[in-house]
Amino acid sequence: MDKWPIGVFTSVDAGLGVKLEVAHELGVPTIQLHAPAQQTRTPAHAERFLKRLNELGIALTVVFGGFEGESYADIPTVSRTVGLVPPETRAARTREMKEIADFAKLLGCNAVALHIGFVPHDTQDPLYLQVRDVTREVCDHCGQNGQNLHLETGQEKAGALLQFIGDVNRDNLFINFDPANLILYGTDEPIAALKQVGRYVRSVHCKDGKWSARPGQDWGQEVPLGQGDVGIENYLRTLDSFGYTGPLTIEREIAQEPERQKAEIGHAVRLLTELREKICGKTGAV
Ligand code: MG
Repeated sequence: MDKWPIGVFTSVDAGLGVKLEVAHELGVPTIQLHAPAQQTRTPAHAERFLKRLNELGIALTVVFGGFEGESYADIPTVSRTVGLVPPETRAARTREMKEIADFAKLLGCNAVALHIGFVPHDTQDPLYLQVRDVTREVCDHCGQNGQNLHLETGQEKAGALLQFIGDVNRDNLFINFDPANLILYGTDEPIAALKQVGRYVRSVHCKDGKWSARPGQDWGQEVPLGQGDVGIENYLRTLDSFGYTGPLTIEREIAQEPERQKAEIGHAVRLLTELREKICGKTGAV
């Protein structure tokens, strides 16, 4: 694969990313996929989806897990509902995450990812230890499938994320770096954070955002790529500085406005293509 192929975040039924057809229309050669709902995670569906990918010449690079009952309505709600942190849903979601990894394997995909949730910062907190243990369990399951697990950034500062990855202590645990999330959650300055965690970054989101007036209390605002506070050229140069060559996967979370979403992703494709050429010289496909 060429360095920095453009990608886009897609979904088949969850309504979060764009449809596969949109990726194709935009001429994007790679996708990440939000895992489809349970009834769709069958070998027959996997086979059909793979056939479609092959027809379109699109490579699937990461499958993202997500769970029923998760809400990103506001930051306290994220804390209460997202990922493997909430105790009441943890066992069922852990089981489901393993099923998602198995489905990803059927799709020939060697990376699965998720928002694990707000991990407590006190490393002696029983909740921290429980989340560490359950992450080990998911890593080990992925390992049996020959897969890596990528943690989506956003809810932790770089230092806390490094601490957590070290404590989980599994060699297939990595990071899907999303610079905008650090701004939207008000967690950390994205470029400085990226420099700290760079050695674990195996996939990325290209997404932009503006800081809220009260970082960490209210959401920042997600905006089209290049119009926010990330500094996209600096972001790409920082990825380059530690040798990241994987896909640049565009994420634009306005699925309720599909036409605008498609147009803004199209713009992001052009921006990333220009910046890639500026930084790396001319490369192959989109
Ligand atoms: Mg993201």
